[in-house]
Amino acid sequence: MTDTLEIKVPDIGGFEGVPVVEVLVATGDTVSEGDSLIVLESEKAAMDVPAPQGGKIVKLAVAVGDEVSQGSVLAVIEVASVEGGASSDPAPDTAPDAAPASTPAPSSAPAAPAGGGTERGDAHAQLLVLGSGPGGYAAAFRAADLGLDVVLVERGETVGGVCLNVGCIPSKALLHAAKVITDAEAMAEHGVGFGAPKIDLDTLRGWKEGVVDQLVQGVTGMAKQRKVRVVRGAGTFTGPHMLEVTSSEGTSTVSFDHAIVATGSRPVELPGVPTDDDRVIDSTGALELADVPKRLLVIGGGIIGLEMATVYDALGSKVTIVELASQLVPGADLDLVKPLHDRVAKRYEAIHLDTKVEEVIAQKAGLKVRFSGDVKDATFDRVLVAVGRRPNGADLGLDAAGVQVDERGFVTVDEHLRTNVAHIHAIGDVAGQPMLAHKATAEGHVAAEVIAGEEHAAWDVRAIPSVAYTEPEIAWIGLTETVAKRDGHAYEVASFPWSASGRALAMDASAGKTKLLFDPETKHVLGAGVVGSGAGELVAEVGLAIEMGATVEDIAATVHAHPTLSESVGLAAELAHGTITDLPNRRAARSR
Ligand SMILES: Cc1cc2nc3c(=O)[nH]c(=O)nc-3n(C[C@H](O)[C@H](O)[C@H](O)COP(=O)(O)OP(=O)(O)OC[C@H]3O[C@@H](n4cnc5c(N)ncnc54)[C@H](O)[C@@H]3O)c2cc1C
Repeated sequence: MTDTLEIKVPDIGGFEGVPVVEVLVATGDTVSEGDSLIVLESEKAAMDVPAPQGGKIVKLAVAVGDEVSQGSVLAVIEVASVEGGASSDPAPDTAPDAAPASTPAPSSAPAAPAGGGTERGDAHAQLLVLGSGPGGYAAAFRAADLGLDVVLVERGETVGGVCLNVGCIPSKALLHAAKVITDAEAMAEHGVGFGAPKIDLDTLRGWKEGVVDQLVQGVTGMAKQRKVRVVRGAGTFTGPHMLEVTSSEGTSTVSFDHAIVATGSRPVELPGVPTDDDRVIDSTGALELADVPKRLLVIGGGIIGLEMATVYDALGSKVTIVELASQLVPGADLDLVKPLHDRVAKRYEAIHLDTKVEEVIAQKAGLKVRFSGDVKDATFDRVLVAVGRRPNGADLGLDAAGVQVDERGFVTVDEHLRTNVAHIHAIGDVAGQPMLAHKATAEGHVAAEVIAGEEHAAWDVRAIPSVAYTEPEIAWIGLTETVAKRDGHAYEVASFPWSASGRALAMDASAGKTKLLFDPETKHVLGAGVVGSGAGELVAEVGLAIEMGATVEDIAATVHAHPTLSESVGLAAELAHGTITDLPNRRAARSR
């Protein structure tokens, strides 16, 4: 017996007349629940419309170029008629493509090597991924693409983790706004004045949220396409092959053959700073953009603190930074930090290095802050605490699974991202430094490949870029001078000053520099540091050079477009190689 069912456009966020840009099926096709049928493209995002139920398409009601709104009929499918009501599937998945607990592995799936426990949960997966950040969703998707049956558990309201929701992405949207403001301001000196910016916080916040939303929808859609079952709730291990998931809807269990722990990290709280006063915020609070405080204290001169300081300074706050270490961006080479320090020293109210916050006292008039040393007490409208992040490794019940967690909350892993329990892996922030999204993603791929039985999968990455998206930007990759000196690593350095770059001068960015570190004997590239506009983009070339074992000669012989900032990488390599003509050539002079 069959019935027919009209497939209509679901809620698409209130958009009307949205064009169909792709039709993925034809009349006569048989589709499964969750298969994408058409792609719509609103001004905000491209979105797939999935089949709400499996069946045979007997009529297609739209073509590319048609415009549709919520409720428009897209297709008619023939479905098996349901007798006897609801399925007895106990799977806790709220996603429409939830598979029953007994779903067999796709035929292409590799044999699940770990075998799994004997006890079955309400749902069962060949691979359970706990946490849907850039590590978790990348691992889940890679594993699904390799044929594994995957359940992804997330306690947050949306997928995407810290990075998409309250980290990399919203911060970059606000930093873009900040850059437009300060670039426009800087042009006044060169004869182009725009006047003071008019800031509509609600619109700016809405735009930032729209960017986040678009990416979250993208990840949600890709999970459906790959038939990754997303289970909402907080997961706790109750055994080596069992996870308990608790949400407002109750508790369910997921049994698994393999697991990847990708639970990320959270902000560190500072003793002596109240946690119950909403004028004290962390990075998540800062990204909410509730207001533009008159006086803002940023505790922590690391990347996250300085990025937020860049935003609020551009929006009009008087910013003070307090940092325990003796430099801003601890970990970066001092010569790279100097142009940033020089700029913010002129713009910000104060920068206190080698200084500790002793106490923050909540008063009606503001937050009174006591500092260590000679720094005078001061009162601020808001205090942003950005003193680092703590891994989410404790409180997951990992001991019940036999997995070791160190005293800081990191889960220890080997080069296959395996914990001490062979079928449980860990990736991303919870698996160690550096706490960066791209490191989490790369680890996610490796862990998924190892579990799927890919023979050569291992963590053998030579260089991971770090970027402070400040103004100016600072980026480094591979060996830094700080680490080379600390560890007695032999190196030579070639620095190309942007004051000699035509493009940098034309962009009013002459304070920048690009430096390459290389092996004095073999001339292999060991690392790079860049400060200046787009620094994060520029180190990518050096990352490739390091991975490919290139020498400075290889980079010097690579033709870079003129005039670009990327040329500075080639010119630093020419300096190292002794072939530079854009600067005096000391190597050539020595041999004359
Ligand atoms: C303001 C800010 C800006 C940043 N900017 C950048 C940047 O520009 N570039 C960059 O590379 N990095 C940046 N980072 C760091 C980056 O966000 C993290 O390194 C990255 O998100 C780590 O990814 P992850 O997958 O390990 O974990 P996360 O993204 O932290 O995701 C972990 C997920 O696990 C979930 N979870 C935790 N415990 C449980 C549980 N028990 N049950 C179910 N779910 C659970 C969490 O809800 C979360 O969604 C920034 C961070 C912040 C705070």
